[in-house]
Amino acid sequence: MSELLVVGSANVDLVVETQRRPGAGETVLGGDTRVLPGGKGANTAVAAAKLGAGTALYGAVGSDEYGELLLDSLGEAGVDTSLVEMTYRPTGIAYITVTPDGENSILVSPGANNTVEPDRLTDALPGAKVLVASMEIPRATVERAVLDAAAAGVRTILNLSPVARVSGEALAALDILLVNEHEAKWLLDGGDDLTALLSLGPSAAVVTLGARGALVVESTGTTELEALRVEAVDTTGAGDAFAGALAAGLAREVGLVQAAREATWVSAYSVTRAGAQPSYPWATELREWSL
Ligand code: ATP
Repeated sequence: MSELLVVGSANVDLVVETQRRPGAGETVLGGDTRVLPGGKGANTAVAAAKLGAGTALYGAVGSDEYGELLLDSLGEAGVDTSLVEMTYRPTGIAYITVTPDGENSILVSPGANNTVEPDRLTDALPGAKVLVASMEIPRATVERAVLDAAAAGVRTILNLSPVARVSGEALAALDILLVNEHEAKWLLDGGDDLTALLSLGPSAAVVTLGARGALVVESTGTTELEALRVEAVDTTGAGDAFAGALAAGLAREVGLVQAAREATWVSAYSVTRAGAQPSYPWATELREWSL
């Protein structure tokens, strides 16, 4: 059994560049479609596995060509896919348009991700040290995963993205809430006192701040972690790289602040390369890069 269990989505990203986005009822011709492995759960699992953590993904894909593509890319990164179900629904797809200013618009068709039920968790949890869950799968499954993992003594991280309300019970059982600054603001109803995230229930919160780094909020105080200064080429999937690296660090039993510091290195590396999963470093690449 894997020491790190990732509960979340797997999507294929269909990316097309366009001079401008079509309005309602309009047709616009764009560039060639790029087909890339993605989804918050799969990205997180790939980031952690490439760093050397024994990682399994708990999720679902369709029994179609895109499902095979996702299983292949997970397998190449060393992720255990035995807990990824092949279902009757089509593989999740993110339709992404990118305009010359680098802005993207994303429409997600969750498909198979909507079939991820919590019923197989009892088989999945034994042996796990850390569970990291993200949204894009049914909220009830995420809540159950956090509660069951906490009851089994497994350390829990919830990457609450895309941001949504989850039950107070799940938040109270949670070890680490991981959000970006926009998600934090939404959770705090527009407030900017990040220490208030702890009053929602988790033992600690980690807030990512893009090129400004990250904050680790604990009851004993807040630690600021600066981002590495890098030439950013593509920030797609930086948050998932951060989540995977944070979880991999905790699975190695380093402290929370050190795990978050390592996550800033890994996510900085990822923004210097194109794409999400292909931009994540193998452990050796990260070591050579930081020499
Ligand atoms: P995304 O939705 O693009 O995956 P996110 O909004 O969830 O990202 P961010 O806060 O933008 O998350 O980025 C996550 C982490 O990636 C940051 O905490 C930081 O460590 C790193 N990072 C992001 N952008 C940069 C950058 N330009 N330079 C260095 N590090 C960066």
